[in-house]
Amino acid sequence: MSVQSTADPAFDVIGLGFGPANVAIAGAVIEKWKDAASTDHAPLRRCLFIEKQREFRWHPGMLLPNSRMQISFLKDLATLRSPQSPITFLAYLHSQGRLVNFINRGSFTPTRREYADYLSWAAEYVQKQGIRVRYGEEVIAISRCEDGLVQVRSRDIGTGEEFSRIARNIVLSPGGTPRLPPALSIHWPHPRIIHSASYISSANEFFASLPRTTEPLRIAVIGAGQSATEVVLDLHSRLNALHVSGGRQHELDMIFRRGSVKPSDDTPFSNEIFDPASTDFVFGLPSQRDRQAVLREYNATNYSVVNVRTIDSLYEVMYHQNLLDGIKSRTGEEEDNNRTRITLCPHTAIYSSEMVPAHPDGATRGDAVRLTLHGLLSRSVTHRTYDAVFCGTGYDRDSWTRLLASSDLAEAYGVKSSAIELVAEGDAAPCEREILSALEGSIAGRATPTGSGSSDGFSTPPTPVTPHSHHTKFPGEGAPSKVRVSRTYRLLPEHDSKHAPRVYLQGCTQSTHGLSESLLSILGVRAGMVVDELCADGARQ
Ligand code: FAD
Repeated sequence: MSVQSTADPAFDVIGLGFGPANVAIAGAVIEKWKDAASTDHAPLRRCLFIEKQREFRWHPGMLLPNSRMQISFLKDLATLRSPQSPITFLAYLHSQGRLVNFINRGSFTPTRREYADYLSWAAEYVQKQGIRVRYGEEVIAISRCEDGLVQVRSRDIGTGEEFSRIARNIVLSPGGTPRLPPALSIHWPHPRIIHSASYISSANEFFASLPRTTEPLRIAVIGAGQSATEVVLDLHSRLNALHVSGGRQHELDMIFRRGSVKPSDDTPFSNEIFDPASTDFVFGLPSQRDRQAVLREYNATNYSVVNVRTIDSLYEVMYHQNLLDGIKSRTGEEEDNNRTRITLCPHTAIYSSEMVPAHPDGATRGDAVRLTLHGLLSRSVTHRTYDAVFCGTGYDRDSWTRLLASSDLAEAYGVKSSAIELVAEGDAAPCEREILSALEGSIAGRATPTGSGSSDGFSTPPTPVTPHSHHTKFPGEGAPSKVRVSRTYRLLPEHDSKHAPRVYLQGCTQSTHGLSESLLSILGVRAGMVVDELCADGARQ
């Protein structure tokens, strides 16, 4: 495949991805343009964002009817940094003629559908102001050029055509990649194993693929976080709409490692962990061990937990199920809308899985997934076969590590293997680090592992993972390479910083910057900090 070198001169900034993180960066850049005395003096004039989706879309797989944001609308792309910004949520509401209605609604949390529309409106707005975006292209490699420039290679996802562009700075904001329990990931992708990231389209395809029979279905949902619980509720209504013959019921099992579905802590004092000042606090801690302790303490604000409203909805559905059972056993009366039985399977892990053909008695249709389940407390081993398995098992945020490790930039950052662990700039120097990490290792050996840096991830981590570190270990690899990151989200080269290109990370530095990293909470402030530094460095050149 030939690579097209675009005729473009070097870009000031190329951004990988055009999700909320990079839309916020684009918004902060536009603000700088507006502040400049004239267009000629405007900094960062040449910005390009490369996004693999064909158009702007925010988590389309989980835009379920009536699903709500877990955050105040005021924590939008800009307000905390710049309330006058043209891309605030309030500016969006005003432009859409819904400001008054939104106020009358009396809630700080928009629906996910409305927030997705806001983000896509903001993405359009910044493009109209001159920010360039290439949709439908995936960044596949970065490499070093002369004079501290970076070459960014991308591939058109439709035609396979490759492009090469040069930039002075790059901002990597790739978001998360769906994580599955290892026992299932060996079969993935498979139309019967569905991650919540593509829930709506994959569930539509799954239900459309079913033959017209009245046999009951058996479905498993793995996980007990927000996404898993929403998926259970949605599947319950879809299954209830599917007729079953002979008074039988569809079975919907929710399988998770903890004892129950736990509520998220969004009380005000806990919520302060998402304040911009908390990022300073976490980054300023003396060691990774201290940061991990803080992350563990506040885990229940975000990971493996469910909004109380969603928990109430699930409880209500299950209570209704009990009620109808009671009525049936007393009066023999059956209600038509009681076609699905939800069963919670707590303290359960997936030991292994295999794909099996359709069951001869029609109990399964098409390929089916046979799970071997391990009762964590009972020590029991059971087997169950499902028509489909849905996973609400979170995301990994380490795709950038593969990009860096496979690049000739790796050496400049001290990367010797694909396993990378971020460390904060102010942490101990390399020799001290070795001593500290030996100490940390002996302490970590005694600690209980918690969820890794992924949403909804706690419920189903089949193997223990280092908490909140971007540390992917590959077979045969030794200790991960430690890469330093600055408070301003810049990866710091080991030596020769003058000539190394500037690489920034957004949304992937939870281990050094804290829990708000993978969320929307501080997007505007974070983007402002990066853009300020880019402008300051540009002015010095
Ligand atoms: P993303 O939104 O994931 O965007 C990254 C973009 O990069 C994607 O568009 C992707 O296609 C693109 N990309 C990745 N790799 C490449 C590549 N190699 N080349 C080109 N493009 C690439 N957070 C909150 O604070 N509040 C909420 O209410 C909330 N709700 C959520 C609901 C769901 C269902 C999910 C999954 C997450 C939710 N989050 C929420 C967390 C979420 O991570 C943030 O809302 C936000 O999406 C983070 O923005 P981002 O730009 O870092 O990542």
